[in-house]
Amino acid sequence: MNAFLNCSCHLLFLVFLILLFSFPACAGSDGDPPPEQLFDDLRNKMVERQIQGRGVGNPKVLDAMRKVKRHLFVAPEHRQQAYEDYPLPIGEGQTISQPYIVGLMSETLASGKTGRVLEIGTGSGYQAAVLAEFYAEVFTIEIVESLGTRAEKLLQELGYKNIHVKIGDGYKGWLEHGPFDAVIVTCAPTHIPQPLKDQLAEGGRMVIPVGETYDQQLVLLKKEKGEIVTKEIIPVRFVPMVDKAGKPY
Ligand code: SAH
Repeated sequence: MNAFLNCSCHLLFLVFLILLFSFPACAGSDGDPPPEQLFDDLRNKMVERQIQGRGVGNPKVLDAMRKVKRHLFVAPEHRQQAYEDYPLPIGEGQTISQPYIVGLMSETLASGKTGRVLEIGTGSGYQAAVLAEFYAEVFTIEIVESLGTRAEKLLQELGYKNIHVKIGDGYKGWLEHGPFDAVIVTCAPTHIPQPLKDQLAEGGRMVIPVGETYDQQLVLLKKEKGEIVTKEIIPVRFVPMVDKAGKPY
């Protein structure tokens, strides 16, 4: 009996050793995938369900959103929620937009020329990074200095050489670098700023939320033969566009 027990113990030990050394590539002692793999999976699901699933089909936009790691653009305490279907706080009372809105706005622009794009409201820098995946040059303006500086540093660390960040009031646009093939506004004024219309290139497109707080329409503007034509897209809710004194436009 003793000999039998001894023998089965040895056998069990042998099986244990074989199992231990036959899976050297297993990540983590409990088999959990490493966090980056987890974020990759969440990001692919987000694109499939929230973006593609709601009708955004432009491959340039879908590829960009599969590539840009949204979780790096939010604070560590919000990383786990980075791929959920809602906006998240980014500090200073501001938010990073819901992923679907980023996808929709990007697609609305992306069927036009993809040379230079101007963004008003850098915030976390996420939308700028998505655009930088398929626009040659991205110019982005943020009025809150701490947000603009943080986004600029992160975008540099991530290796984006085609994104140019400026701290200032985006209502006026960025005259030196215009005209732009596309303008994207991610804060809401009550009217469409004239300087932004002026800095739109012939054939250019602008997407902008317009209206009072809680009652805004996302509007697409196209410049055709010098004339501006507009089309309403969907109702949206963005933070207001403000001047340097914090007064809404
Ligand atoms: N696109 C951002 C989200 C922007 S939230 C992202 O991907 O994270 C809107 C931003 O617009 C805020 O950061 C706010 O500070 C900024 N903003 C408001 N008024 C502005 C103005 N006049 N000029 C530039 N930025 C402005």
